[in-house]
Amino acid sequence: MVQARRDKDHFALLLADLDNFKTVNDTLGHAAGDDLLVEVAKRLKASVREVDTVARIGGDEFALILTRIQGPEDAAKVAAHVVEALARSYRVQGLDITGGASLGVTFWPGDGDSADALLKNADVAMYRAKERGRNNYQFFTSDMADGVVDAMRIESGLRQAIEAGELAMYYQPQVSSDGRAVSAEALMRWHSRELGWVPPSRFIPIAERTGLIASLGDFALWQACRQCLAWRERLAPDFRIAVNLSAAQFKHEGLVERVATVLHEFNLPGSALELEITESVIMEDVARGQSVLAGLKQLGCKLAIDDFGTGYSSLAYLKRFSVDVLKIDKSFIDGLDEASDDVSVAEAIVSLARSLGLDVVAEGVETAAQLEVLRRIVGDYGYLAQGYFYSPPVPAPEFEQRFPAFRQLRLVGEHA
Ligand code: C2E
Ligand code: CA
Ligand code: CA
Repeated sequence: MVQARRDKDHFALLLADLDNFKTVNDTLGHAAGDDLLVEVAKRLKASVREVDTVARIGGDEFALILTRIQGPEDAAKVAAHVVEALARSYRVQGLDITGGASLGVTFWPGDGDSADALLKNADVAMYRAKERGRNNYQFFTSDMADGVVDAMRIESGLRQAIEAGELAMYYQPQVSSDGRAVSAEALMRWHSRELGWVPPSRFIPIAERTGLIASLGDFALWQACRQCLAWRERLAPDFRIAVNLSAAQFKHEGLVERVATVLHEFNLPGSALELEITESVIMEDVARGQSVLAGLKQLGCKLAIDDFGTGYSSLAYLKRFSVDVLKIDKSFIDGLDEASDDVSVAEAIVSLARSLGLDVVAEGVETAAQLEVLRRIVGDYGYLAQGYFYSPPVPAPEFEQRFPAFRQLRLVGEHA
């Protein structure tokens, strides 16, 4: 900064975070992780000029300083180049590995007047890039800073949300191929007195970062079990509720005991609960993942892989992990009613499930046409479908009221 000020110059600071370094480290070992870092460093150096600076500032975080550049367009060019260079596959210990990185870009002057501020803002931009689907770069903008302030208001609101009675679980039916709602996914809703409705996609990540997820997760489990007991009495004796487990919950030491305690409290068998986890959460720490899943399995709980097909998973592990259900991600269901690649992807996932003996749940089914294609793909294997076609997530009393109608809707769909 001192130098740029003296030379009346501009520079850009780029922060790059590798998208699946941890997975490589955990599944292939640290030597493989080291190899990957070395290769990344080489590619970074090759992507910039000799006057620029490349540094490794953390486990899998790299910073680049581009000096003497004219303006943001130059920084954008380099950023795109870096993203492209890091996205090419890597040869590590004889294996081809998909790489990829997310980049945050800040510009001086403008985006911060201290090294700390610049780095912090680059970090914010980098997270934004990650949220937008990885393998891309984002410039820092001042409204991202608003997002940071927002996060603080969300955090403080969330701290008292349970006590204030602002949280509720909504339920979305999962309907079998013969038209019965055999289970429901429990989805959290927060209506804050101060902020209004805050979507889970906004507050769950904040709850994870701040540790608040522990009490939110307990709330979800407790509510779901209470509801399941009531519905086993009133709707169907084998009714099941699926609860989402976040990464932090999954990593927490006491998870299995926690689930056991809640089941015990309501005198429910483990089969009343299905636990949904994403691929990447399991793959982050394979050894631990396996033992936690085994523990949950021993309680009798069903285990589902959420958003299947969007993350990184080792097919070899799928079998070992004693998973029961693959939830086909909504992004693949979306295109089922058009002539799109989604059909082939869905077919591949179904045949994988079939050969491993896993149940299939299709999420985000919105139209009768999508359901029709799904039925054709699955054939006689059977599936559960979940989506706005049947019902959005609704409060428990409404779910109960509409329960018999989920079936009629199915019939309407069939004739549509
Ligand atoms: P998810 O687990 O993938 O949940 C499915 C999301 O898709 C839900 O969004 C649901 O409302 C939405 N959805 C269902 N059917 C359709 C459809 O036909 N069309 C469209 N466009 N969307 C549909 P929601 O409730 O906003 O939840 C978002 C995410 O937040 C969830 O994604 C889950 O990852 C997280 N989440 C929600 N509740 C909880 C919870 O209690 N605990 C944890 N750990 N995470 C939760
Ligand atoms: Ca889910
Ligand atoms: Ca999902």
